[in-house]
Amino acid sequence: MPGQDPSTNLALPSLPPELEELGEIALNLWWTWNPAGKNLFRLINPYLWKESGHNPIQLLKTLSAQELEALTKEERFMREYRYVRALFREYMNDKTIYSEEEPLPIAYFCAEFGLHHSVPIYSGGLGFLAGDILKEASDMGLPMVGVGFMYPEGYVRQVMSPDGWQQGASETIDKDTAPIERVLDEKGDHLVFQVPFIDPPVYASLWKLNVGRVSLYLLDTDIEQNDPWDRQISSHLYTPDMNQRLRQEIVLGIGGYRALEILGIKYSILHLNEGHPAFALFERIRSMIEEKKLSLDEAIERVRASSVFTTHTPLQAATDVYNFDMMSHYFGDYWKRLGMDKERFMSFGLNPDAPNAGFNMTVLGLKLCNQRNAVSQKHAEVTRQIWKNVLAQDEPGSPPIVGITNGVHLPTWLGDELRDRLDELLGERWLQLQEDPDLWSRVDELEDEEIWQLHYTYKVRMVNFIRERVRRKWSDEGIDPIVAMAEGVMLDPDVLTIGFARRMTAYKRPDLILHDLDRLEKIVNNYARPVQIIFAGKAHPADQTGKQILQRIFKTAQDRRFRGRIAFVEDYGEGTAKYLVRGCDVWLNNPQIPMEACGTSGMKAAINGTLHCSTLDGWWPEGYNGKNGWAFGGEISDDAKDAAALYDLLEKEIVPLYYTLDEHKRPAGWIAKMRESIRSVSPRFGSRRMMKEYLEKFYLPVSQRSRSWEN
Ligand SMILES: *Cc1c(COP(=O)(O)O)cnc(C)c1O
Repeated sequence: MPGQDPSTNLALPSLPPELEELGEIALNLWWTWNPAGKNLFRLINPYLWKESGHNPIQLLKTLSAQELEALTKEERFMREYRYVRALFREYMNDKTIYSEEEPLPIAYFCAEFGLHHSVPIYSGGLGFLAGDILKEASDMGLPMVGVGFMYPEGYVRQVMSPDGWQQGASETIDKDTAPIERVLDEKGDHLVFQVPFIDPPVYASLWKLNVGRVSLYLLDTDIEQNDPWDRQISSHLYTPDMNQRLRQEIVLGIGGYRALEILGIKYSILHLNEGHPAFALFERIRSMIEEKKLSLDEAIERVRASSVFTTHTPLQAATDVYNFDMMSHYFGDYWKRLGMDKERFMSFGLNPDAPNAGFNMTVLGLKLCNQRNAVSQKHAEVTRQIWKNVLAQDEPGSPPIVGITNGVHLPTWLGDELRDRLDELLGERWLQLQEDPDLWSRVDELEDEEIWQLHYTYKVRMVNFIRERVRRKWSDEGIDPIVAMAEGVMLDPDVLTIGFARRMTAYKRPDLILHDLDRLEKIVNNYARPVQIIFAGKAHPADQTGKQILQRIFKTAQDRRFRGRIAFVEDYGEGTAKYLVRGCDVWLNNPQIPMEACGTSGMKAAINGTLHCSTLDGWWPEGYNGKNGWAFGGEISDDAKDAAALYDLLEKEIVPLYYTLDEHKRPAGWIAKMRESIRSVSPRFGSRRMMKEYLEKFYLPVSQRSRSWEN
């Protein structure tokens, strides 16, 4: 959908006429998944590029007018600039839509988006899924617009104390250097609007993030028109203060809905990613009643028929529930506008399993959307089970919950060198055909030598990145040497490396591998066949258990008996993830079954040949084929038994396979598995396959129905 609003980034320096479009390229995250785009900014000044944290706006801001002018005289740079400009124009103007039939426009709402580390408005997998969906929608030319939140204080910046306790430092996003634009009103000022139905009034401003051809609008309450308490509404992701959280979700759902109205952005399909933005469904009913003059029941029917709800949790307790008093406080007048009484209004969030607990946002999504999905096949079964009493109240003929397994955006997560090699091997059009498994049969032609060399390059890069970060902290902040040690200075690229990086939360069991330290010590310290383990991940600031697990990991990393072979990498985020998923040898995932709805970091690893070793949860029952990684642990999770199974697997299979070298000094058996991982996982767990399913199962059928109403 083209940006219909005037918007601007006031921070962008004025550029020489020869470089006019450089600003536009800098303000579009398209460059983040295009090697030529990345290379262009690196060429300006590799050192400053690194210093800017790979943020082109910040980079351009540090250059003086003379330096910018001088760029126009640099032939090599100008050649690249023209080349990238041509690619960018071609991409932006390409009108091809993936499907033969065009779906009607889709508005995609989510509380977080993981797109790039220069815009830290995510906490984990949910956000990266949402980010990858926007990127893929852009690549496919789908008419989609995103709605989310600008969190001025980002998520937590993680700083570890020497005793391993996570300190929550918050890092204020500098909105003037982030690659985002202000949405302006007709006078040219930053657009500010009142969020409807909140009393006393709350105001929000809007930012725009360009994700290729897709626009993402971010709501921001941190503006002077608001009282301090209201300014804080959008300051933190998933605030534990339930009143504030309710206000946040009102701003996201109802304010987000209003924002699209103000911008004049029309769409026919509303897609809610998880329950947080589900109040938008009520707004949709209200606008159908007030603008289309439908009766309440007709409006509900239409909203159901044209809205999509994706659930991401396998646990009722993990959904947002607001007590009825709090709900009445904010919605007391609102239900009257909808022509409902209190009882009917509350019934949409009433969970029959916990009728007194309050208003449940997931129940709201399930009750007001006919297009409902879980994020893996296993999760779909679990979802049908845990919500069976809600689903029993479905209108007759309501479609069941389907499973649409997540996928990852290949151009974002594949290493550039591997991608270049795939360009040669599979042909320039391979990204367009990526979900066809036949295309990938040619991966068998990748030679052992090149796979191993490429992987080793990524591994060295990862180790250098980790060491360099610690070096900086050591010299700039004077951190405790024991902290520096625990954070990875002793890592060795020649050692079998296991990675475990994701949110530090109890159900993911980050410390499972530490269950029996004596046994682990023997595995790690085998002199002929050593093993190292890299951990990374943040605990939610309010999650004490998560912080304790993290502390245990950090203390183990400091324990001399592991000889510096266990490391914890601080402040996990998109940037670090890219190094780790490519550079580790094994990607460990051991959630308590069935708590991992899908899990996507393992897909990012597997497409790069980093072998997934996981309990059979989330996507892995679909992804594992016996040759492309490992599965371990029981169907009923038991820490002691699962840890023992993992140690067995390491001792008997993983370590020997890695260290058994052929006559060329390469682990041929291991490399065969890497090849199989790339070949089997890439077509099935890329975001193209996923988006095709959303399109065919939801967007196109809804479009057909909506067209018949509109005619
Ligand atoms: C992909 C990703 C995640 C999701 O990880 P899971 O495997 O779902 O736990 C979390 N954080 C970052 C930075 C990611 O890139």
